[in-house]
Amino acid sequence: MPTRRRVVALTFNAAWQTEGLDTVLHVLHHDHTPATFFLTGDFADRHPAAARAIAKAGHGIGNHSYSHPHFPALRSAQRAAEVPRADRAIRTPPAPPRSRSSASRTAKQARRRSPRSTP
Ligand SMILES: [Zn+2]
Repeated sequence: MPTRRRVVALTFNAAWQTEGLDTVLHVLHHDHTPATFFLTGDFADRHPAAARAIAKAGHGIGNHSYSHPHFPALRSAQRAAEVPRADRAIRTPPAPPRSRSSASRTAKQARRRSPRSTP
């Protein structure tokens, strides 16, 4: 970001636990402070609600690899696989669990909306 102003970029790593995330998001919201969160794909897979909360709050999201390996120890193909695997996980975290009643209702609505067509 080219600028002549003195600026600070606030970044957070999100690779392990979600402990403290609610507080961080609350303080950033309260102070109208944007930040960038660097998520691992593994974090997005294990904590989809947290990944969604970060995105919903409007913060930037960066790729922090899938499994946060020690990159110099990896083979080239392994290094090359980490980033796109994380990208997929971050962009499409697992859907939140549905309650049995809403899942059942959705299935009924789907059946109603799209009757089978015969060729
Ligand atoms: Zn790291």
